[in-house]
Amino acid sequence: MKITIIGSGPAGYTAALRAAQLGAQVWLVEEGKLGGACLNWACIPTKFMVHATDVLESARQASQFGLNVTGEGTNWNGLLSRKSEFIHSIGSGLQDLFSSGGIELVSGLAEITNPGLVTVHSNSEPPLLIKTDRIIIASGSVPRCIDVPGAATAGLLFPENLLSLGKLPESLIMIGGGAVGVEFALIFSRLGCRVSIVEMMPRIIPAEEAELTSMLERSLKRNGVAVYTGTVVTSLSETGASKKVTLIHAGTELTLESELVALGIGHHPRLDEASLSRSGVAFDNRGIITDERMSTSIPTIFAAGDVTGKNMLAHVAMMQGKIAAENALGLDSVMDYTAIPRCVFGRPELAAVGLTEEQAAAGGYRVRCGRAPFAAVAAAGIRGERRGLVKLVADAGTGRLLGMHILGPDAASLIAEGTLALRKGATLDDIENTIHAHPTLSEAIWNAARDAEGRAGNHRSG
Ligand SMILES: Cc1cc2nc3c(=O)[nH]c(=O)nc-3n(C[C@H](O)[C@H](O)[C@H](O)COP(=O)(O)OP(=O)(O)OC[C@H]3O[C@@H](n4cnc5c(N)ncnc54)[C@H](O)[C@@H]3O)c2cc1C
Repeated sequence: MKITIIGSGPAGYTAALRAAQLGAQVWLVEEGKLGGACLNWACIPTKFMVHATDVLESARQASQFGLNVTGEGTNWNGLLSRKSEFIHSIGSGLQDLFSSGGIELVSGLAEITNPGLVTVHSNSEPPLLIKTDRIIIASGSVPRCIDVPGAATAGLLFPENLLSLGKLPESLIMIGGGAVGVEFALIFSRLGCRVSIVEMMPRIIPAEEAELTSMLERSLKRNGVAVYTGTVVTSLSETGASKKVTLIHAGTELTLESELVALGIGHHPRLDEASLSRSGVAFDNRGIITDERMSTSIPTIFAAGDVTGKNMLAHVAMMQGKIAAENALGLDSVMDYTAIPRCVFGRPELAAVGLTEEQAAAGGYRVRCGRAPFAAVAAAGIRGERRGLVKLVADAGTGRLLGMHILGPDAASLIAEGTLALRKGATLDDIENTIHAHPTLSEAIWNAARDAEGRAGNHRSG
């Protein structure tokens, strides 16, 4: 069976590797850089930079541990070149995996000519025609733009541009206070840039637990980030070296000035509407329409990742890519969206899975919650990171976990316990009766389960 995959981001490369494992002849077409947005300018480079600024912060706080570290400083170009080397090494690793899997990598812009034929256009070669039995579309997404006067001419930047700037800007306005806006605000402010976040909703990361996001907002402000929530951008302009953003904040018009302005207000699916229509693949403005097997309206064409418009996250894209490849090759696999971790790599880190307390109550549940601060966990104290808490949301009658919310050190890794618990229908009791290693951060989850069961007492691990 021959399968052609369009796009080499997390959805495309996972699909390609799984299809090769299943014995298919795989062609993977990429018009940009191998690894897609995720590897080249989104998930990986931002997390590299967040970690690099953690190292800087650790140096700044070394005296708390009785250490004397000197020579602290930032080197923007040094950081970027280290980041590029790292990305390059992951890209080479991917390439090695493709060659050992016998995957044929083609560089160029793929177009579905008909359900059995993909045409690849490149500047240097005549079009390549790939006859194929199955197609998986994994073309990703493109950043949303803002529709206000001046948006097209004000030299707005997108996440894609921010980690390849020639120099560290003195000031930056991030429009959008979601995960992307918060991560860039953290990186740039820690490096010494003056950062403002402008968010239309009443709070940053508006879909998550308010008691956690308000702590995250306070922490950003302590880092010197100005946060304008409930604030609408009305126009943008550029004068000389400075950009102006006009806003309505608390009923008053304000103008902020900054060296750079960047947008992080989400993405929309990258659709080649002409070729989708020609081949009969149904789509709407949310993306390519897929069922739980990642099948499209054409039985031999599948789609995976951001292009489907469902939970635009790399880990969802990877799972969708795997499911698409399996179904394309005759297995019967189903995508399960019940437990999807959502992470914001701010400081503290925020991670959540399942329902917030408000969503659970609105969904008709009688809710029982448990909370536990990281301050009560020795492992957090050892790291000097006592801020944050774990909040569990459960069904009051059965104790079944409905949601886990973590703000604190390594929250994005800790949430794996909640993801598995939620997927398997675990209860507070199951969590409480699971032995959590000591001294580790996971004890905060154990403490939160005990709190929900009314058995927390004044337990302090140490
Ligand atoms: C700043 C930022 C940080 C993020 N951080 C995280 C994070 O920490 N964790 C997380 O889970 N998610 C994160 N995301 C989201 C994540 O990047 C996306 O969900 C993920 O990249 C989607 O993978 P994909 O394979 O669907 O698409 P992409 O990674 O966008 O890859 C699609 C690929 O398809 C190629 N392509 C498109 N059309 C064609 C064509 N016609 N022919 C050939 N090639 C084509 C593109 O060039 C691209 O390389 C972040 C996003 C941003 C913007």
